[in-house]
Amino acid sequence: MKATSSALNALKVAFTAAGHERKPLFSVWKDFARVLMVLSATCEYSAMSQRSTPPFRADHVGSLLRPAELRAAREKAAQGTITPGELREVEDRAIRGVVELQRKAGLRSATDGEFRRASWHMDFIYQLGGVSQSDERLHVKFHNAAGDLEFSPPGLQVDGKVRLNKTIFGDHFAYLKSVVDSGVTPKQTIPSPSMVYYRGGRAAVDEQVYPDLEDFFTDLAAAYADQIKGMGALGCTYLQLDDTSLAYLNDPKQRELVARMGGDPETLHLRNIKTMNAAIEAKPEGMAITTHLCRGNFRSSWAAEGSYDFVAEALFNELNVDGFFLEFDDERSGGFEPLRFVPKGKYVVLGLVTTKRGELEPMETLERRIEQAAKYVDIDQLCLSPQCGFSSTEEGNDLTEEQQVRKLERIVETAAKVWG
Ligand SMILES: [Zn+2]
Repeated sequence: MKATSSALNALKVAFTAAGHERKPLFSVWKDFARVLMVLSATCEYSAMSQRSTPPFRADHVGSLLRPAELRAAREKAAQGTITPGELREVEDRAIRGVVELQRKAGLRSATDGEFRRASWHMDFIYQLGGVSQSDERLHVKFHNAAGDLEFSPPGLQVDGKVRLNKTIFGDHFAYLKSVVDSGVTPKQTIPSPSMVYYRGGRAAVDEQVYPDLEDFFTDLAAAYADQIKGMGALGCTYLQLDDTSLAYLNDPKQRELVARMGGDPETLHLRNIKTMNAAIEAKPEGMAITTHLCRGNFRSSWAAEGSYDFVAEALFNELNVDGFFLEFDDERSGGFEPLRFVPKGKYVVLGLVTTKRGELEPMETLERRIEQAAKYVDIDQLCLSPQCGFSSTEEGNDLTEEQQVRKLERIVETAAKVWG
């Protein structure tokens, strides 16, 4: 845009010179030469421009910090002191506010911040047919700079044939779509099918219902295919499958854990990619599907570490998504080398801005890191986002709403500088 107007200005100056001022001919030609130079820069520039379809150059993962009013209302609803209808009114108001926050930050897509959920994945998974909450709790150890903390959500049990009874979060999406401005793409996030199996493993899938695990994965993919079709029917053009398993599996400790649970740590990522692909085949025309990978996000803490090396070649080449939102905010994610496997036509959204701390990343640092990543994949295939959501669970990360906004704005201004 800037380059185009510079070219027009140069053209105007050159014509004025040619028509009104009796400049020597060589000087006029010099002016036209300048026009040509600016125009050629414009061509180079437009090859690397903003994107009109997802993922966008400046984007974000999905969840956003819950406002105090919403947190209080959820607590009251849990205690039964307000009705589900009253909670919904508070949610609707908070979602309108967070959609406006994203528009003001300059983002081209908007989520509902996952404001109607307690957690990014369990609220969805429990709504799948054939899945129920088990009495046993899951114990996932998270780490942060100060020490460890444990996330203990209720476990899940696959005790029936997996199926989709209704489009899950369909009502969430319909509301979001109704409140975004034209020109803003409503984005829906859901957990990837991998998440139904990863934490519980074989032990969480009833042997009576699924003596052969292959049948479980086939049904799971079919349920997700129905979900994707259902979202498409509601007008969703931007869907994200959030998948921590594909990041966790890079960590040798996580692979040991998978082996202890009776799984095959060497091939589980291939199994997950295959299941996701079977679901993605149902993608309607005009829908972009992305995935987000990270090593856990619970109150500013993480669960795994290690570069993307172990999964990279299969992940980038075989998983049929349009874009990968990849965590890259510190050394826990390793270097950019695995990006050498990204084929043409797929996009990587670099998660360079941390949501785990409030401190704002300098723009120069982000630019330098984008340049480093561009040594391995064409800069035209790159975009920028935070490394994860700001609030994967309703508790949220340890930063303020103000700091969250500054980070989103920083992403937008950096993307404008890098990609125009
Ligand atoms: Zn994440």
